[in-house]
Amino acid sequence: MAGNDAIVIGGGIFGVSAAYHLKKAGLERVLLIEREPVLAAQTSQGAAGFLAPWWAGSSNEQPELALELYGLDLYRSLAKRHQIGLRQHGIAHVATTAANQAAMRSRYELVRAQLGEDQVALLSPDQLHELAPIVEPSQVRGALFMRNAFSLVAAEAVRALADEFVALGGELRLGTDVSEIVIDDGRVRGVVAGGQAIMSGRVVVAAGAWLRRLLHTVGIELPLVATQAARFVTQPLASVPPTMPMLMFPDYHNLYLRTEQDGLLIGCEEIVVHPPTLQSDLSALQRGQLPQAVAAGVSPVADTTHHYHLWLARAFAHVVPVLGEIAVREVRVGYPTRVPDMRHVAGQAGGVHGLFLLGADLECGMTHGPGLGRIIADLAVHGHAPPEIAAYQPDRWG
Ligand SMILES: Cc1cc2nc3c(=O)[nH]c(=O)nc-3n(C[C@H](O)[C@H](O)[C@H](O)COP(=O)(O)OP(=O)(O)OC[C@H]3O[C@@H](n4cnc5c(N)ncnc54)[C@H](O)[C@@H]3O)c2cc1C
Repeated sequence: MAGNDAIVIGGGIFGVSAAYHLKKAGLERVLLIEREPVLAAQTSQGAAGFLAPWWAGSSNEQPELALELYGLDLYRSLAKRHQIGLRQHGIAHVATTAANQAAMRSRYELVRAQLGEDQVALLSPDQLHELAPIVEPSQVRGALFMRNAFSLVAAEAVRALADEFVALGGELRLGTDVSEIVIDDGRVRGVVAGGQAIMSGRVVVAAGAWLRRLLHTVGIELPLVATQAARFVTQPLASVPPTMPMLMFPDYHNLYLRTEQDGLLIGCEEIVVHPPTLQSDLSALQRGQLPQAVAAGVSPVADTTHHYHLWLARAFAHVVPVLGEIAVREVRVGYPTRVPDMRHVAGQAGGVHGLFLLGADLECGMTHGPGLGRIIADLAVHGHAPPEIAAYQPDRWG
């Protein structure tokens, strides 16, 4: 039973980022354990790969924009040493209604102040059409264009970061299930993984859609719901330029699209609760109990979400005419998790010394994961974290 300075459970972006930052923070023996035979096998492989300063334009008091800028920098630096498919063409948030056009204008001033004048522009419909000729200019009001945004291949980025973790001396154990978190006398002592006890006084749980179930085994309850999200790639489309910015349509189900493999990658941000989770939660409520042991996202569900996205995309062909002719070539699905107040979960589990939780990815974990991993590492190694992340305290529900 060898001792470790830290154990991280989960080889998606949250776990890999935590492990990498724990090494960077100076820990000697850091072990990352992942159940699947490869890293980024679950929700992280499903990510659409949009990296952008999503919170730019909101109050500076919130930690999210700082997380985003840190993440963007980290991936840019990673792309200098690894192939992660990074394509820097910016993102255009496109307004199709007068109300959103007005909101966009007022957001523009704030974004300019936060990111710098050269990082953001308000585009007229014709300017947008020049950058993204697939958009019909007569059907849009304008766009807020942010240069500081790019796309990447999420699984490749996670694996590249893990390579750096290993190069720093970190240890990976793949294909190994953590069945138990060992707690004694209010302190974490380690885990049982693959039937073997592995000791450590620090354990970071970054188990994605399985976080809730794993914590339930040690009596910690989180109101975490796993949802199903899907995105698809179309057949090659001659009219899609490779250098087109990523596009988002906040007035239309947050439909997003970007160039991918000579076609388009398409998705939207509706929330579909994982059906068995919902059913089980509802039955518990009907019995007068609070839902407790629901293992979110664990059983394979037939994916119907992308059919809905396809239908929505085709119905938007008056704005983006090429959507009228798309066919699905590849679908990816994952299980992002959400909590009632729609903030992340990052911090020490109340009452258990040395047990740190990282979850509630809110479907933006590729962007926020690097910064959240750094925060958890600072907390676990140095005992401090920025005060703004009090909003992410795992025990905030009492
Ligand atoms: C369709 C879609 C589009 C998205 N688009 C974007 C986007 O454009 N930009 C963005 O920023 N984010 C996006 N996201 C969100 C992003 O993918 C997630 O936020 C992120 O991948 C979550 O990472 P994670 O590490 O928490 O989860 P996961 O990647 O699921 O990792 C958790 C890991 O823990 C492992 N695990 C669980 N239990 C155990 C156990 N007991 N023992 C060992 N290992 C265990 C699992 O096998 C899994 O590999 C998207 C997600 C989807 C599904």
